[in-house]
Amino acid sequence: MTARPPIPFIDLKGQQARISSELRRRLDAVLGHCQFILGPEVAELEAKLAQLCGARHCIAVSSGTDAIQIALMAEGVGQGDAVFLPAFTYTATAEVPLVLGATPVFVDVDPHTFQIDPAHLERRIAEVRRDGHLRPRALIGVDLFGQPADWKALAGIAEREGLFSLDDLAQSFGCTLHGRPLGAAADATVTSFFPSKPLAGYGDGGALFTESDERASLYRSLRTHGEGASRYEVLHTGMNGRLDTMQAAVLLAKLTVFADELKARERVARYYDSRLGNAVVTPARVPDSTSAWAIYAILLPDQAARADVQAALRTNGVPTAIYYPRPLHLQPAYRHHHNGIGLPVSEDLASRILALPIHPYLSEADIAHVCDSVLNAVS
Ligand SMILES: *Cc1c(COP(=O)(O)O)cnc(C)c1O
Repeated sequence: MTARPPIPFIDLKGQQARISSELRRRLDAVLGHCQFILGPEVAELEAKLAQLCGARHCIAVSSGTDAIQIALMAEGVGQGDAVFLPAFTYTATAEVPLVLGATPVFVDVDPHTFQIDPAHLERRIAEVRRDGHLRPRALIGVDLFGQPADWKALAGIAEREGLFSLDDLAQSFGCTLHGRPLGAAADATVTSFFPSKPLAGYGDGGALFTESDERASLYRSLRTHGEGASRYEVLHTGMNGRLDTMQAAVLLAKLTVFADELKARERVARYYDSRLGNAVVTPARVPDSTSAWAIYAILLPDQAARADVQAALRTNGVPTAIYYPRPLHLQPAYRHHHNGIGLPVSEDLASRILALPIHPYLSEADIAHVCDSVLNAVS
């Protein structure tokens, strides 16, 4: 057998080659005007992103994590407040409430779609109310792996329970739900432009979206140290949370191919589904939605089978990753904020989930090689 070069898990070089002239034009423009902080590219990007996801306002910030922080700071979330969020997500979602002195309350996820489970959310809210120590204050619904969470159910629960609803769209910018892009399903929406996300910069970045004029102006103020109408009037305790002009320039170049890249990701996902669907558990689709396919994760029968498949793929030059090997309620940093109840679906997924390479620049031969390798490993 001839050795083939390993397949990249995410191919930023292939993308760069494709957009290089637009990228250079955009970066040269910034080098020309030298407005490195909140230069014109930031406002241009905000307008384009707001339009893309059907939101009234977009505020570009320094990271997805900072976007979550700004959203919760704007609501005054802090000591004594319960913030409900899924246990099966990236750590940033849980870290911010704790940084602000609030308490994360971990909710289990759906065993098929891996999205936060609305029925379990309702039970957790009822528990916190019965217990009486914390005030239910906010819900952070995460759109996991590229697909949307069940926002119809989540927004209804938030409304009935009087919770601030925040949509963590960091992994799924570009997905749709009920025929519309996600960006206005909750009181506010945040996304991330970390280099491995579907729409990404060449460094850290993020954005907030909201329909509310008051929230939007508060977010703008908080990202620049809480400044008021004049630069040296400080209205709020804020932070340094702005998106760099350079990152905005990179993102504007990447936006020119984003729609096409989403289609390419969908093609890879369909190919994986059709070749692998009889051999392993392939991702269940959220009804009436499209995915941004940040991650394509399969389920193996158990942890030992996963380790075997991962090793066999590695030998074949196929990289894999585990999102997430440990649910948040079992993490050393968070477990003492959890009441000890089991979250069986999150725990089960963590033990046997495996992510395959998915990006728009996988060749047909690479996709076939990934499938052949998985089928060989499980047979
Ligand atoms: C990546 C990610 C974040 C954090 O975004 P950063 O830009 O890296 O700060 C938050 N939530 C989820 C679900 C993420 O995947």
